[in-house]
Amino acid sequence: YLQLQKDKESNAQAYPRHFPLVIDRARGIIVTDTDGKSYYDCLCGAGTLALGHNHDVVVAAIQDTLVKQIPLHTLDLATPLKLDFMQEIFTMLPEPLRSSSKIQFCGPTGADAVEAAIKLVKNATKGKSILAFQGGYHGSTQATMAMSGNLSKKQHLQSLLPDVHFLPFPYEYRCPFGVGEGKTAQISAQYIEQLLDDCESGIAAPCCLIVETVQGEGGAIPAPIEWLREIRRITAERGIPLIIDEVQTGIGRTGTMFSFEHAGIIPDVIVCSKAIGGSLPMSVVIYKEELDQWKPGAHTGTFRGNQLGMATGLATLRYLQSNDVLENVRERSSQFFHSLRRLQARVQEIGDVRGRGLMIGVEIVDPRGQKDRLGHFPQSGELAGLIQERCFQNGLIIELGGRRSAVMRFLPPLTITEQEAAEVLFIFEKSVIEAVE
Ligand code: PMP
Repeated sequence: YLQLQKDKESNAQAYPRHFPLVIDRARGIIVTDTDGKSYYDCLCGAGTLALGHNHDVVVAAIQDTLVKQIPLHTLDLATPLKLDFMQEIFTMLPEPLRSSSKIQFCGPTGADAVEAAIKLVKNATKGKSILAFQGGYHGSTQATMAMSGNLSKKQHLQSLLPDVHFLPFPYEYRCPFGVGEGKTAQISAQYIEQLLDDCESGIAAPCCLIVETVQGEGGAIPAPIEWLREIRRITAERGIPLIIDEVQTGIGRTGTMFSFEHAGIIPDVIVCSKAIGGSLPMSVVIYKEELDQWKPGAHTGTFRGNQLGMATGLATLRYLQSNDVLENVRERSSQFFHSLRRLQARVQEIGDVRGRGLMIGVEIVDPRGQKDRLGHFPQSGELAGLIQERCFQNGLIIELGGRRSAVMRFLPPLTITEQEAAEVLFIFEKSVIEAVE
């Protein structure tokens, strides 16, 4: 099998392409390969599997849909399942979005929904330029790549949409302004405000500002809560729609259903994918009613309204809300942070431990390298790769991200138990020690 993949599958495959395993079965946080060896999966479909692999409620939803002969493909036609799913999403939203927002079903991927969101706000505002962030990630289509800072190997393929402006994200550990932690967020917000007010900034009227509250692919970098509030204030005062890309952070990942809830802000547009499909492809855009100025047919697509994805999505959303899963996310998050920070205190190669909820990053550094202006060693993608390899040998699948692929990223299922978290952390610690020795 491995040889066949090596010979015949596109060289572009990613999301740990180099792990030499062929997955046979999976359940919860465990995947088992064709040789019968089991691994803890802390990648989980890049954060898609909120309830882990093949959760009972997801399996039942698929079976039920098929047994009841619910149509699998209905384009934009209404079905009871679609209406139930929409209803469930609305009940999860804070007011005023709960009672006065609209939902647009998009193609199967997160990028589809980001594209739709951009078209939506362009149509509603007639603004042209897009404000995005350094290190951000919004997808791999031409337009979403043009809005992503985190491109690494795709840089040469990027389409340079002339209307995208990259702003400094408050990456506190490696502050883009070279000042210490704590001041980064404040300076970033002031900079953005000044830029928008400068009549000679060269920026055409913006149609939106798009941001992740925690940069995922960018290396699990959480935006400070106060900064998010400032960004909301700045965009609201200038009539610029705020799009929160919740593709990775949404649906409980950070400990609240939507990640913007931590800041108590209300975005104009929310983009969701990954976990909202409950293991199957699904993406939606949710937005304030007044932005709904589409004409019918202005945004079309064949694979919207995927019924099986709605069934698994609905089952997942209901399970999340009725089983204290968010509480589990918060408790397991503390467990992860406690243990990883203890390890950080012992190991010089761990530069930073950060994230929110169960979206956690460990930045690996090279203590032999030259310190930066803030006194931090340089990122070491090489050592991170070595730790990743050790983790794999020891039975843990974990992905890398961030600049120079130096950030080890934990995205376990939201249902991970205390015992499973302890075992994951044990393997991680053992692997780090082995790799740095
Ligand atoms: N936005 C964010 C924040 C993401 O993390 C991702 C995927 N990692 C996307 C958009 C794109 O989603 P997809 O890969 O499904 O197109």
